Amino acid sequence: MSLLATDSVGTARFRAYGPRQLDEISDRHGLSADIRETVRLVSMVLPFRVNEYVLTQLIDWDRIPDDPMFQLVFPQKGMLTEQNERDLAALSADPAAKPALRTLVQQIRGRLNPHPSGQKELNVPTRDGAEIPGLQHKYRETVLYFPSQGQTCHSYCTYCFRWAQFVGDADLRFAAPDPSGLISYLGAHPDAGDVLVTGGDPMVMSTERLRSHLEPLLAVDTVRTIRIGTKSVAYWPQRFVTDPDADDVLRLFEQVVASGRNLAVMAHFSHPRELSTDLARQAVARIKSTGALVYCQAPLIARVNDDADVWSEMWRAELALGAVPYYMFVERDTGPYDYFRVPLARAAEIFQAAYRTLPGLARTVRGPVMSATPGKVAVDGVVETAEGRFLQLHMVQAREPALVGRPFLAHYDPGAAWLDELRLDRSVPADIARAIAGPAWTAEPELFGTRTATPVGSPA
Ligand code: SF4
Repeated sequence: MSLLATDSVGTARFRAYGPRQLDEISDRHGLSADIRETVRLVSMVLPFRVNEYVLTQLIDWDRIPDDPMFQLVFPQKGMLTEQNERDLAALSADPAAKPALRTLVQQIRGRLNPHPSGQKELNVPTRDGAEIPGLQHKYRETVLYFPSQGQTCHSYCTYCFRWAQFVGDADLRFAAPDPSGLISYLGAHPDAGDVLVTGGDPMVMSTERLRSHLEPLLAVDTVRTIRIGTKSVAYWPQRFVTDPDADDVLRLFEQVVASGRNLAVMAHFSHPRELSTDLARQAVARIKSTGALVYCQAPLIARVNDDADVWSEMWRAELALGAVPYYMFVERDTGPYDYFRVPLARAAEIFQAAYRTLPGLARTVRGPVMSATPGKVAVDGVVETAEGRFLQLHMVQAREPALVGRPFLAHYDPGAAWLDELRLDRSVPADIARAIAGPAWTAEPELFGTRTATPVGSPA
């Protein structure tokens, strides 16, 4: 790997690189003309952003395009259809076709299921009939809060299920300008004691900005846990180590902990390489020194981490740093989903093979889990009965708490990669089946689980 000295990148100021800096990246790291063109075209539709640390410390340029970190942050051939790429190339070559290009980009985005799992329709709370911007409330205990200044990331993941947040379409964005709506909502919902501050990545905000969103929460007695969803430890660990306000953010975390709240940094790690640098390890140690807990989670992604050894190494590395392995998610049905999808049966196999290698303290991890419309659904594995092969599942979290923890069966399908590609068994209790298949559910098997995967970019 060609790396900059950690010292020089360790003290570097953050700088983002996007499609406009593609030539610069290309000159420095030797992208082929083909790869460069693919990145140019795909990044018209999907967000692309990277930074110096990711470029010099995480990507192995000798192994591109297969390198998992390159796959993680650079748009790839196959994420859009060939026809989409051809159309984008033709329209972008014609200066008079700008309006047509914009329309095409919007059409392609619209076909990529920008708000999966009913986020937009089902989870946005209202007050006096009006939506409260920047909030989602799906599970009784937890409110998601999207501060508007935290709706970017230090680098973007090509598989991001919140990619719609980053493409500049106001209709696709969740964002709260300030916490006033959240605070009054929490006042009316004392059961919601857990606030997840998320994005994007809230850690892109300056400490002062972050403080303006967190401090008001400390005045709400019913808030017991504050979680911060972030990939900054992986993508820009300097945020906690060498940035000008890195020490200030640690003081802010200490203040939250001193208020008696449980502060949990929900760290997103996709690959063990992200934990291999001194800076990342220092970042975890410094966060933990404040009394905050670090929980680790990531989706299982083809071409990035669809390998039991990768997960085993990553969970062990997390444990060694005193962080808690928490979730292996199933990639959501959005964006370039067909490029990354891993069938559920295969996902369960990878999870189990990795889990078996772990010491007891790392067996805190759950998975593979789909964060789907009715709730978080775990795939326990394949079971054989006199009636055939099934996938056994259970809900880890649900809109209806009564559904949690009860095992149920779906017919085994080696290609199914999401809940609505499964056919539930007749034995599934009616309340669970209705939550999954919708109110129109009946016990007729052909009436539920009927979706088949749609190739990315195919006509809607
Ligand atoms: S860090 Fe999280 S929110 Fe940001 S691009 Fe990656 S998956 Fe999406």
